[in-house]
Amino acid sequence: MNLADIAQAAGLRTPIRHQLFINGQFVDSQSGETLPTLNPHDNSKIADVAMAGAADVELAVQAAEAALPKWSRMAAMDRGRILLKLADLIENNAEELARLESLDTGHPIRDSRMLDVPRTAVTYRYFGGMADKFQGEQIPVEVGFLNYTLREPVGVVGQVVPWNFPLMFTSWKMAPALAAGNCIVMKPAEITPLSSLKIAELMAQAGMPDGVVNILPGLGAVAGQAIAEHDRISKIAFTGSTATGRRIVQASAGNLKKVQLELGGKGANIVFEDANLIAAVNGAAWAIFHNQGQACIAGSRLVLHEKIADAFLEKFIALARSIRLGNPLDPHTEMGPLTSLQHRDRVLSYVDVARSQGGEVLSGGIAPTGDLASGCYVEPTIVRASSWRDRIAQEEVFGPFVTVLTFKDDHEALQIANSTEYGLGGGLWTNNLQRAHKFARDMKSGMVWINCYKRVNPGSPFGGSGMSGYGREMGFDAMREYTQVKSIWVNVDAQIAPHYARP
Ligand code: NAD
Repeated sequence: MNLADIAQAAGLRTPIRHQLFINGQFVDSQSGETLPTLNPHDNSKIADVAMAGAADVELAVQAAEAALPKWSRMAAMDRGRILLKLADLIENNAEELARLESLDTGHPIRDSRMLDVPRTAVTYRYFGGMADKFQGEQIPVEVGFLNYTLREPVGVVGQVVPWNFPLMFTSWKMAPALAAGNCIVMKPAEITPLSSLKIAELMAQAGMPDGVVNILPGLGAVAGQAIAEHDRISKIAFTGSTATGRRIVQASAGNLKKVQLELGGKGANIVFEDANLIAAVNGAAWAIFHNQGQACIAGSRLVLHEKIADAFLEKFIALARSIRLGNPLDPHTEMGPLTSLQHRDRVLSYVDVARSQGGEVLSGGIAPTGDLASGCYVEPTIVRASSWRDRIAQEEVFGPFVTVLTFKDDHEALQIANSTEYGLGGGLWTNNLQRAHKFARDMKSGMVWINCYKRVNPGSPFGGSGMSGYGREMGFDAMREYTQVKSIWVNVDAQIAPHYARP
């Protein structure tokens, strides 16, 4: 099938964008090279997408540099207005974006419609409104002086996003950067570039000046590395694996660019003996199975009090087995494929890892057969670990794979929760108020959810510590990440001590 037929079969009304977006234009790469992007439902090719190299990164940086003086000095309200217009355009094109995201990533269409697209629009709207509300301060210093701060944009910023939530994650990075007056060179993941290119088209419609946003699909080791190393890019914001995060820190050393990292996680989801069991079972399923478990904040360690473990698991296993796997574009589908075949195999390899260390597969652990065999599917998988030290209790699997651990008392629950190198998200289910707040305080985690899991909002800080990275997305914290403070001193009517006075 050609591209137009593929678009039509997926219910798309507008052409699929497959070129780089540089200086307001869709263009081929300098080398002319392309990379195919595949439909993870059946591994058929969707499009050959232009593949950026270092020469394209250089052109994008030049375009961003040229656009920076005007964009950064524009009235903040006018920058905000463009982001608000973009939010409206995303809502007007919601079905188109939802279908494109599901086609390219495998997200069930009901999730793309209910979560990915609305959350993307809300993020641009939030930061559109933020543009003229984020301000400097006046500091009460010595008599006779006025001291105030300016919040200046960092400049040209590089952004590298992964394949698990391409639409949402590009908004989390681009919206605050733009509101603060920066220009952007952004690289989506090589396997899921389509929705970011569509956003580029909508940005142009919203009135974004040429060069402010440049979108460059391409390989991480080539285009991503060129962005991380570029000596005229002042900051890099990255979401992805801890291993790549480390490489980015090393590459950034050349010009000491500011680095912001949102890396992996191994979220502990703790269920105490006094929890509302039904709410906890449903919440735990959402925590791990939404987006096929491909989420850095997934509740991938289910930590159960031993008194309720059997009753919990009976209901949880039944729920997992009832989840409807299928074509992401089918509105009845509750779980789609993983985003690539390579990743599916990586996730399945953890079943052998589990068994080799005495783990017990309680449900799933296989790829489905039949109609779904040619896609990247994995059945919802529940595995009991023999110890919190096992690899399946320590390493990020990043799939519909949950590791079950049990505990005797609060002390042991906290010890298990804090036993990994990560520190991103975690949750607990209890009706004991004191315990809830004690765990919220003591869990080594950038985000804690009490009697809920995986809540996100553009106003609420998102990020972690340890091997989960540093810096925060969302809210005022994101605006701080994308600005630098300048302190300005004015002598209004001060008598300055004449240390070196001469007659
Ligand atoms: P990755 O970190 O390699 O890829 C994420 C992004 O980084 C992609 O855009 C990729 O092109 C880019 N990249 C790769 N190498 C780069 C480099 N040297 N310089 C600059 N950019 C580079 O992730 P992956 O290999 O696709 O997935 C492996 C594992 O990473 C997953 O199984 C999961 O555990 C984890 N992961 C985490 C997240 C998250 O949201 N924190 C997202 C994706 C993957």
